[in-house]
Amino acid sequence: MFDHIECFYRPTTVREALLLLRKAGKHGRLVAGGTDFVIQADRSTRFLIDITRLGLSYVRGNSRGYTIGATTTMAAIEHSLITRTLAGGILAKAASTCGSIQNRNIATVGGNLANASPAADTAAVLLALEAQVVVAGPGRKRKIALSDFYSGPHQTVLKGELLEEVLIPALPRGGRLGWSFQKLGRTETDISLVNAAAGLQADAQGHIKWARLALGAVGPTPLRARNTEALLLGKTLTEDLLTRAGEAAMHEVSPISDSRASAEYRREMSGVLARRALRECAAQAGCKLL
Ligand SMILES: Cc1cc2nc3c(=O)[nH]c(=O)nc-3n(C[C@H](O)[C@H](O)[C@H](O)COP(=O)(O)OP(=O)(O)OC[C@H]3O[C@@H](n4cnc5c(N)ncnc54)[C@H](O)[C@@H]3O)c2cc1C
Repeated sequence: MFDHIECFYRPTTVREALLLLRKAGKHGRLVAGGTDFVIQADRSTRFLIDITRLGLSYVRGNSRGYTIGATTTMAAIEHSLITRTLAGGILAKAASTCGSIQNRNIATVGGNLANASPAADTAAVLLALEAQVVVAGPGRKRKIALSDFYSGPHQTVLKGELLEEVLIPALPRGGRLGWSFQKLGRTETDISLVNAAAGLQADAQGHIKWARLALGAVGPTPLRARNTEALLLGKTLTEDLLTRAGEAAMHEVSPISDSRASAEYRREMSGVLARRALRECAAQAGCKLL
């Protein structure tokens, strides 16, 4: 399976990893947990650059926001006290659904984002949380909003760069917040047929003053359902509004059919998961559905 690999490098600094990547050219590939790399069976890779010793495994948080190193594993995110309490624990929940325990022990958040699968479970949550990624390239670092990071299925805007960390801005202040992560898969350990992440904030009168909804596996990239978010703003959450939000979400997606599900089923389930997610958010935010 790996007979085409000529060298396996284990750099200890980001600079060294970037130099190796540049030297290897189109035959070089960064690898973290390797859980996506191994199943892609890409025979053009001859030089593998292991990035798990760069000191990029951490979860930090303070009043200004949160930082998660790229090589932090799904298991670490699932169990970190910081991520378990951040945004109602939806990132920890998404991480806890990324395959089996064995997979989660080595799969990393950076790999989940950089692999750019439309179904990546942490991507939907991080989009809803308006995360940015810090990427390092030869001689410079830049911050990119996660919503601008994807350029297509399995494509990102990275150019010989390494994703160093994920930044999550401080959450809206004040009470009456609710969060939800929903996933539909064929089995407990399978990737998502559809996933949804949502956040809502209501004012004292129960009007929605802040709304975020992101959906995965229903378009070329994980996406923010911005029209659905706009539909919710300023309104009181009612059963009728939930139904309309579900319909709006179905209009925002452009799923494909594959071996896991048909496009029609995915579209229908986008509406169902959007409604489920918003209902859970509403309950947490103390909004009584009228
Ligand atoms: C059995 C199984 C079940 C799975 N279930 C799920 C699931 O339920 N949900 C889900 O979302 N995923 C799932 N996955 C996919 C996979 O485990 C995740 O996407 C994982 O997070 C990838 O991380 P990794 O560290 O293993 O990435 P790797 O395989 O090491 O890398 C993936 C790609 O990203 C690039 N890359 C990695 N890190 C960086 C970085 N820091 N900077 C730049 N490029 C980088 C690599 O070059 C490679 O192209 C599953 C995989 C398997 C094998």
